[in-house]
Amino acid sequence: MSAASIPDDLFAAPAPDRSFVISRSQLEMYRKCPRCFWLRKRHGIEQPDSFPFTLNNAVDFLVKRSFDGYRRRGELPPMLQAHGLNAKLFSDQQKLDEWRNNRKGIRWTDPLTGVTLYGAVDDILEFPDGSLAVIDYKASGSADGKVYPSYQFQLETYTYLLQRLGFKTAPTGYLAYFLAVKDQEFEGQLPFRMVVREAELNPAGVADYFRAAVELSQSDRVPASGEECDLCRFVGETLPVIKC
Ligand code: SF4
Repeated sequence: MSAASIPDDLFAAPAPDRSFVISRSQLEMYRKCPRCFWLRKRHGIEQPDSFPFTLNNAVDFLVKRSFDGYRRRGELPPMLQAHGLNAKLFSDQQKLDEWRNNRKGIRWTDPLTGVTLYGAVDDILEFPDGSLAVIDYKASGSADGKVYPSYQFQLETYTYLLQRLGFKTAPTGYLAYFLAVKDQEFEGQLPFRMVVREAELNPAGVADYFRAAVELSQSDRVPASGEECDLCRFVGETLPVIKC
């Protein structure tokens, strides 16, 4: 849903709470389903927790540890070299640890609304001209890693935050994919094929979503639900049947 579809009367909403904070994943929630975002931010109602992605988290942990080793040695990880990148890993480990921290992240407060936007990044590349590019690690069981719209928006949001903090950024973002190899006998070890996907980014578009999400969070009007989730329809159809 685009920012332009937010009803005009929302612009008369009261000024936002200046301590208000929107995370990168909440902005993605707004993009996919404004109603779910509104329920979370206006009424504190969250979707039930899903099962934790422990395998993905394990890969994420191992890749971070591996990339940090290359960073200490001043080397580029082989999968990034194989992609032909003329860049180095962001060398400020202390700053990166802060930007990776889910409770801190890359964090910027909009001077117009007073609302903070933040997101925890996986890694950063630094090009010879000083520009930075975001890398996100992805573990997947698919045959080839794709740049899905949500991944594109994720890269754009981190890049937008870097720009707001005054960093020069590259026009591209990167997905470091770890694709499970499934055509071999399984003997307790899961091999991965490593590929890099890159995406041309439009970080400026994030500003429109951010401002629209801030306005919606101050509104009492129930917004439409998105098209990617069927849960509200499911609940609507089941309630009259189970009568609870
Ligand atoms: S349709 Fe799905 S994402 Fe949207 S409000 Fe309902 S549960 Fe949330």
